[in-house]
Amino acid sequence: MSELVLVSPLAGWSTPLEEVPDPVFAGRMLGDGVAIDPLGSTLHAPCDGEVVLLPETRHAVTLRTARGLEVLMHLGIDTVGLGGEGFEALVVLGQPVRTGDALIRFDLDLLARRARSLLTPILVVGGTGTLARRVQGCPVTVGEVLMEWVPAGAAADRAAARTGAREARSRTVRVALEHGIHARPAAQLAAAIAGLEAEVSLLAAGRQADARSVVALMTLGVRGGGQVEIRAAGPDAPAAIEAIEAVLSAAAPVPASNTPARAATSDPVRAAPAQPEPDPEPLRCGAVLRGVVASRGFAVGRAAVLHVREVAPEEAGGGCEHETRELDRAQARVRAALEQARSGATGPAAEVIEAHLALLADPYLQTQARGWIGRGKSAGYAWRAAIRESVAALRALGDARMAERADDLTDLERQVLLALAGESVPAVAAVPPGSILIARELLPSQLVRLDAERLAGICLAAGGATSHVSILAAAAGIPALVALGPAVGEIVEDTALILDAEVGELHVDPGEPRVEAARARMMRNAERRARERQAAQRECRMADGTRIEVLANLGSLADAEAAMRNGAEGCGLLRTEFLFLERRHAPSETEQRDEYQRIARALAGKPLTIRTLDIGGDKPIDYLPLPREENPALGLRGVRTSLWREDLLDEQLRAVLAVEPAGQCRILLPMITDVAELRAVRARLLEASRQVGRTAPIELGVMIETPASALIAAVLAREAEFFSIGTNDLTQYTLAMDRGHPQLAARLDGLHPAVLTLIARTAEAAHAQGRGVAVCGGLAADPAAAPILIGLGVRELSCAPAAIPGVKALIGELTLEQCERWARQALEQESAAAVRALSGVAAGKTGEPESAGACAPARG
Ligand code: PEP
Ligand code: MG
Repeated sequence: MSELVLVSPLAGWSTPLEEVPDPVFAGRMLGDGVAIDPLGSTLHAPCDGEVVLLPETRHAVTLRTARGLEVLMHLGIDTVGLGGEGFEALVVLGQPVRTGDALIRFDLDLLARRARSLLTPILVVGGTGTLARRVQGCPVTVGEVLMEWVPAGAAADRAAARTGAREARSRTVRVALEHGIHARPAAQLAAAIAGLEAEVSLLAAGRQADARSVVALMTLGVRGGGQVEIRAAGPDAPAAIEAIEAVLSAAAPVPASNTPARAATSDPVRAAPAQPEPDPEPLRCGAVLRGVVASRGFAVGRAAVLHVREVAPEEAGGGCEHETRELDRAQARVRAALEQARSGATGPAAEVIEAHLALLADPYLQTQARGWIGRGKSAGYAWRAAIRESVAALRALGDARMAERADDLTDLERQVLLALAGESVPAVAAVPPGSILIARELLPSQLVRLDAERLAGICLAAGGATSHVSILAAAAGIPALVALGPAVGEIVEDTALILDAEVGELHVDPGEPRVEAARARMMRNAERRARERQAAQRECRMADGTRIEVLANLGSLADAEAAMRNGAEGCGLLRTEFLFLERRHAPSETEQRDEYQRIARALAGKPLTIRTLDIGGDKPIDYLPLPREENPALGLRGVRTSLWREDLLDEQLRAVLAVEPAGQCRILLPMITDVAELRAVRARLLEASRQVGRTAPIELGVMIETPASALIAAVLAREAEFFSIGTNDLTQYTLAMDRGHPQLAARLDGLHPAVLTLIARTAEAAHAQGRGVAVCGGLAADPAAAPILIGLGVRELSCAPAAIPGVKALIGELTLEQCERWARQALEQESAAAVRALSGVAAGKTGEPESAGACAPARG
């Protein structure tokens, strides 16, 4: 695509887009360009092209050039509401036009009276490139050059020419950062090229950002797994590209719905401590507010309400020099306070402070703020305008994580405004020890400055579970609920509260008996956990002597060691992905064999179930370039990927076959949907055995985690030596709900009767062929589910190491007869909630289902 020169379509005053009183235009969400304050009343064509958009209201027009670029002109702001009054189209849709042709005639007086603003954005929409030149801050006449657009490559070439480099360089890379380019990685990128002499930009989805601007990088909206092009020019261009690539690709890889990392967060067992003791009586008095769990735990305390003072800056400034000085001073104060806080901070708190320091120095924010001062605004007004423009752009990306990063900018806005007002940089009033902090929202800097030791919990009306505040709370071990809604604002200082951040409830003023009961519950939970851990080394049997094996799900050698400490009777699922992620090449056969061998040794001869690589789809790895998929959860993953890359499968099989003693390991295949897949792997297994000279047989089992495999379990059971039911995926695929979907999280329940029916069918088929059936999904350690699974015929439960003592203790108090009765009843229920109400009794270990009230235990 070549360069495009646009001439002014109007006579008037050309101004920067930031001045348009509409965040869509000011934030360049539609495209880049300038705005013209018109003096004439005819809009002309700024270039040759074809009219491709001309709404009936005739308040805007879009031309498309022969090279496919689009130029949008929007007469005034909020003019669509005029319904065409005052506008006359001089062209029709589809008409070719030449530069300077009259397009729309408009009634300037009418617009001046009725439109929110006369400012008319002239934007280049789409195309990968940048505005190399724009005329603004001065009068323009029709036909004079207004802007020059250059394609991305040419932009870098120009930069190269400016910086004296012989050539501009570029490289396209995949972003391996889990959450894309958000604040922290953006800050790392800027830092990585800090000392280099090069102009560096990142391009994605047709947009370009200066790699030294954290804010501009964030507004690119690049997500984990996405692609970006790095362009650099100047003497240090090669080094800059290397440095940027190192940050983008050497970071923690992108986990996906089926990665161990994500599985861990959606695994109820890992998310919640096993079977917290049910309350002796439900907390019914007082209001109960429900929110989203941001940091798990349980707390009892009194409300400490956070009052935030708003600062409203004057609009008009006292002169450019004065306001610039004021802004510099205020920023210096904030910087000093942040640096001081950084010296005492560690972990996520230190990272938040680093991110704020980087944002404070951001060149884009600084240019924007100083631009506003140049237009006569006060330092405070200018800083706020600069921040809010970027906040609007981040929120407009429609990415919850990026929108949460906007909190950091708002935080910084407030810190600088307070410094300008001569107040100390935000300090939260010291809260009494044991307080539960109540606020509409909490900014990261406020939490960082709080004494975490004094906080028993945090409750916010707004916020998201992945915001910095939530991460900080979890890191500090403070139970926290967010998104509790405006009712939180009615809680008064010193109110007694019970914060149940296991189930997402806040009990307001529950009355002294319940507060006492909750305190006692905390004590008992702690004591019970200690007891269960002591008893966990014993073999697991039900109260009637029925043997149930409780094994561990592992993702590393460290997990294996923890599992043994917690009384695991072996490993029911080794997620081998841990060996393949976070690296540039697949692990060699020897490396795999050594690692499996170490884990086998750590298990001291107990069974080790090794699952073949469950990767692919939305869990990409660099050395395994998979085709891009519209619907990765339904694409190449699990055994499908292994059969597509048989070389990797063969290596893995040989590595497992080499582990000694020969009988300790068995092999498990993920995402099976038909028997042909099992046969194909078995053929390769036989060949691998021949290659390594092994004659001892090895068990080959399948995961039942698709509805298809559950429905053909009878066929599979003829050839698979064991089944392991992956309830995480089985639930996702049966209910057609993404296992990581935040809005559907509460409905994604494996106790749905549809899922239970598939489990029952699987267990029946397994027993008919004398095959063992295990559950290794999150349901295995759910105290409401485990009794029902046992009742359905499951005899092995495999769960996170930390959950094992609780699961064993629960099983020890049940009888098979009880569990089978509950299972039969569960299959007849009409919803997961009804099953939970029923099975709560099992978790409570008392009474009969028919006679008990709802008492569903905690569930992650
Ligand atoms: C499952 O799907 O339940 C399972 C155990 O596998 P993963 O969580 O690793 O996808
Ligand atoms: Mg799975």
